[in-house]
Amino acid sequence: MNDTATNLVSSDLFRKHKLRLINDRSVPADQVKILKSSIKKLLIKNNATLIAHYYVDPNIQSLAEELNGCVSDSLEMAKFGQTTDAEVLVIAGVKFMGETAKILNPEKKVIMPTLEATCSLDLGCPAKEFKAFCDQYPDREIVVYANTSAEVKAMADWVVTSSIALEVVEHLDQEGKKIVWGPDKHLGAYIKKETGADMILWDAACIVHDEFKYEGMLKMKSLHPDAKILVHPESPENVVSLADMVGSTSQIINAAAEEGINKFIVATDKGIFYQLAKKYPNKEFYEAPTAGEGATCKSCSQCPWMGMNSLKNLEMVLINMNNEIIVDKEVAKLAQRSLFRMTNFKK
Ligand code: SF4
Repeated sequence: MNDTATNLVSSDLFRKHKLRLINDRSVPADQVKILKSSIKKLLIKNNATLIAHYYVDPNIQSLAEELNGCVSDSLEMAKFGQTTDAEVLVIAGVKFMGETAKILNPEKKVIMPTLEATCSLDLGCPAKEFKAFCDQYPDREIVVYANTSAEVKAMADWVVTSSIALEVVEHLDQEGKKIVWGPDKHLGAYIKKETGADMILWDAACIVHDEFKYEGMLKMKSLHPDAKILVHPESPENVVSLADMVGSTSQIINAAAEEGINKFIVATDKGIFYQLAKKYPNKEFYEAPTAGEGATCKSCSQCPWMGMNSLKNLEMVLINMNNEIIVDKEVAKLAQRSLFRMTNFKK
């Protein structure tokens, strides 16, 4: 796909799915309390644990924290399933996270509040087309971002998340390996620039991070000159160029701990602000601007698919014990190899 095609796909996806956003922030506080209490009982009854991503609704994040589940980025979510005794993993996130949990824990039942929550990177990298792309470069290692289908992971040599992508590519580069990278073009370009590795990039983008704007960021920085800019590397290159720190969600949260710095402009999904406000109640955080010339969405900064996870559908899935993630056994076996490389990778 060229850039124009990608942008068209992105704006179509955004429009279509934004309309279907379900958000617990509109649920009255007394109902939230009732729902949380019901979910707690159901989790215990089903010997289930809740694993949530930083981008889902704060009510779900706080529930996972209260119940000693897990709230984290996709790397830690993947690892957590392997450490718990629970028989059922309830993944509040998007589909590739559920698939990853199932592949790494084939003996456990993996369910999700909704099976419709996907990701523009997963959608933008169909397995058949990606295979044809990789087949053109048989001498290269295939490194894919975790935001891909089980089928794409099955054809990869390595799976990485944004927290370890740089280190893995650096390691491969030092071994003299050349790389085919997919699917996020911005993250790929960032890693290529940072490591100098020989990388051929697939062309897809995250519809949330792709919306952050260079001009808007400059204006915001002029309003808050003492603020540090923290940027997720799925953002466009010119936005990344303004960053004081580029990193995954966990790395952004850790970076905000810096002593003496009390203001931050943050370019990633707004779900992260729950954790930032909780961990650093005396610091100020500003959402990086998305509204700019040519923007397809005005100031959303919220993944429409992550937003499909709600307390209501979380309760329903635990009542019905449906929405199970099933991965073809052969595909899972192949994908396990590249995923285990990721979870076992040591810097
Ligand atoms: S925020 Fe972007 S990368 Fe993350 S799930 Fe949503 S579309 Fe995918």
